[in-house]
Amino acid sequence: MLGIILSSSVIGWYIVFLGRGIAIDYESIDRMSEKISKSEFTKVELRGNDKPLIIPGSGLFADNEPWMYVAASRPVPAKYQPRDLVEVNLPHGDSNIPIRLQSRTAEQLQTLFGVASERGISLMVSSAYRSIEDQEKLYNDFVTKQGKARADQYVAKPGTSEHHTGFAADVTDASPACAKDSDRCSLSPATAAWLAETAPKYGFIIRYPAGKQPVTGTAYEPWHLRYVGVAFAEQATKANLTFDEFIEQAAPGKKSSYSQTQINR
Ligand SMILES: [Zn+2]
Repeated sequence: MLGIILSSSVIGWYIVFLGRGIAIDYESIDRMSEKISKSEFTKVELRGNDKPLIIPGSGLFADNEPWMYVAASRPVPAKYQPRDLVEVNLPHGDSNIPIRLQSRTAEQLQTLFGVASERGISLMVSSAYRSIEDQEKLYNDFVTKQGKARADQYVAKPGTSEHHTGFAADVTDASPACAKDSDRCSLSPATAAWLAETAPKYGFIIRYPAGKQPVTGTAYEPWHLRYVGVAFAEQATKANLTFDEFIEQAAPGKKSSYSQTQINR
């Protein structure tokens, strides 16, 4: 039963994570982003860890770093482009369409898939990098098919998806159905548990864990892996901290700077 629920959740992935009807004031966001990027956060004490986590000098909010924080309240900057997208050589949904990720993320994901394979687990990527234009098309197609009211309810406006960063991938169980159509990809509870335990060793966090919706604003997505680097992934997971909670600890009050005042709802 749970498998069915997870499966249908995967099908409704856009619905769960991107479902925010907002109009974005990109200019204000870019100005704010510049200001915050110049702030310095170098040492962060995480609960449950002996050693502080050292953050690269480029700062918590720098674009194109694994630390790049993206949420409904914090869209990517209007002109954001991932720095080094590469084609990912892994089994994936919609198999005739190439998928891309930032190079380090792709390498680490390939390693993770190799480890899974050794354990007899066959994985597939159901979604990777998506451009803002991809998201616009997704939104417009939804409007055409189901109307604007429903699209605003279920599909996020372009810019608010972590998939824009090139650091996020949706990972599911491999299947012929998934290879043919990514809407039919699914993730079993057993594989989800394996991913949650293993992915941090390779730098990935489960970005939207179970029971953390009040913090992340997003329902449990066991398939959505976000590359943040091994040190952070392992420490944050050990401390049971979401990315949102980590940012709040590292830069109190900064992560929600864009909400309400910067975004016209
Ligand atoms: Zn995802």
